[in-house]
Amino acid sequence: MKYIYLFGYPLGHSISPAMQNAALRAKAVRATRYVKFPLPREKMPEMILALRAPHCLGANVTVPHKQTILPYLDEVTELAREIGAVNTIVKRTDSGAGNAKLIGDNTDAYGFIQALRVRRIAAKHTRVAILGAGGAAAAAGYALAQEGAREIIFLNRSVERAAELAERLNRKFPHLALAINDWQGLARTQLIINATSVGMTPHAEESPLPEDAILPRHAIVFDLVYNPPVTQFLRAAKQRGARSIGGLEMLIYQGARAFELWTGQRAPVQVMRIAAANALREHIQTSQRG
Ligand code: NAP
Repeated sequence: MKYIYLFGYPLGHSISPAMQNAALRAKAVRATRYVKFPLPREKMPEMILALRAPHCLGANVTVPHKQTILPYLDEVTELAREIGAVNTIVKRTDSGAGNAKLIGDNTDAYGFIQALRVRRIAAKHTRVAILGAGGAAAAAGYALAQEGAREIIFLNRSVERAAELAERLNRKFPHLALAINDWQGLARTQLIINATSVGMTPHAEESPLPEDAILPRHAIVFDLVYNPPVTQFLRAAKQRGARSIGGLEMLIYQGARAFELWTGQRAPVQVMRIAAANALREHIQTSQRG
């Protein structure tokens, strides 16, 4: 049996195993299973050991390891290095060489932009606000900059983290207009993204938007949180006439790209979509009963 691990902590909420195992079955990838491997921050050496074992095919990495894993890997793709976060690890054996190399990649940026593309939302020339400055905000910011966004305003609790992210993006995309914690600036944006973990189950009553924030009427509002499917943030935005997008589609596409990196096969996106939606529904029903 070969394994693809999901490293993170806690992992109780994750629907990725249901989604990836459905894809492995649909593509008849034999004797391979995607399993949760919950490991807290201080257990990084255990993670590397598990990754280097011959029966491990690769991994997904989530909170709190996405940034701290970078120095432990043999190689990191240019994209993941520029975003500053790895969410997918692939093993590659060079011909003639002995041990397989651990390559860190980032599929969140692809998942994010693909979730916009399937809704025919173009990022080119748009003014965007991103709530957050962690790994997901960096992936979204990088993807939007690459697609030709005109301006990105980062709104984050820790202003230093937002400044550091804006500085990194500015080095790579010097023509992109950038601002930090300019809440008034929200009014001029067309796309508003929640890339914080605020509003996630079990704190679904919380919103990352201050009560007095002014949302432009026809903005598109995208919450990267997928549980609950309709967050407080999306509800508030909808009430003000905005078009809303939940985080599930991004999860599906980042997973599809990772599947392709591990297996070399085209991802069965529709199978993954159905499995993810079913797993999320079951998870919500179970937590409502409990
Ligand atoms: P992260 O690197 O840990 O960043 C967390 C972000 O949330 C930071 O900006 C942090 O602000 C902010 N934050 C956390 N608690 C807060 C609070 N109480 N008040 C205000 N801000 C708070 O995590 P991440 O990987 O970027 O993930 C962020 C969110 O995106 C999570 O909900 C995750 O599930 C979601 N996500 C979704 C997908 C998808 O496929 N749909 C993919 C990746 C991530 P500070 O910097 O001030 O701490």
